[in-house]
Amino acid sequence: RLRLAHSAVFQAGRLVRDVIVITDLTREYRAERLKSDFIATVSHELRTPLTPIIGYLDLLRTRGARMTPEKRAQALDLVADRARHMSRLVEDLLLASRMDDGQDEPALRTDLGVHDLVTLVRQVAEDMGGADGRVVTDLPGEPVEVRCDAGRTIQVVGNLVGNALKYSPAAERVEVRLRACDGRASVEVVDRGRGIPADQLTKVFEKFHRVEDPMTMSTGGTGLGLFIARRLAHAMGGDISLISTLGSGSTFTLVLPLARTDAG
Ligand code: ADP
Repeated sequence: RLRLAHSAVFQAGRLVRDVIVITDLTREYRAERLKSDFIATVSHELRTPLTPIIGYLDLLRTRGARMTPEKRAQALDLVADRARHMSRLVEDLLLASRMDDGQDEPALRTDLGVHDLVTLVRQVAEDMGGADGRVVTDLPGEPVEVRCDAGRTIQVVGNLVGNALKYSPAAERVEVRLRACDGRASVEVVDRGRGIPADQLTKVFEKFHRVEDPMTMSTGGTGLGLFIARRLAHAMGGDISLISTLGSGSTFTLVLPLARTDAG
């Protein structure tokens, strides 16, 4: 995209200067497109939970008195669940807007302490896949103490497990393994989903990046989850890596530093 501008300077009726300015607008054009894509994605993501919230509130308002207590409780649970989802989405947007693409956000708030990673991972697995047994764990019998922010660690592992469930067939299990060695603990989240193309393995960690395939496009998402997850891992002195084979599945690994005693 180029913009041409022409200006001519006359003095006493004579042309003294003739200037043509060519501006390359490719970057501005791309930024503009990114912005409108972003607004479309966010609006869609916010509207999705909002539709049942409004619907069920209307139902409760007009027919709530005649509903059985169970039905009423079900409707309220659903409204609360969708509202929590919206709140997480807004939280992600705020977090992402505080982190710019280039460097890690030094002011990213993490409350670092010593926590047992086994307990945190078990909690995520039970919350996200306990009911239908889709999430299976392979955890050590004794505690694995790491230096981390407990809430942020739950958020990061929850994001990886959530993606593994979202981007693989409903019949496939997701495995979460925890290991500790060489001063580091690693949490592997293994799925047998559709995998990620080799040229996108680093891109999926970029802000708003989503793989352009029919499965991703038919699934809700903003492309912010992995961007935020990796930044949070960095803020806790860790990292997230990814191995994936198209068509057979992906393994995301979160690494965190062990909280070692002097004896190591
Ligand atoms: P979102 O899920 O909201 O789109 P993420 O940042 O969590 O955003 O993920 C970015 C993209 O990476 C997803 O849109 C999807 O295309 C791809 N992706 C993430 N996790 C997986 C996975 N386990 N299997 C296949 N693709 C994945």
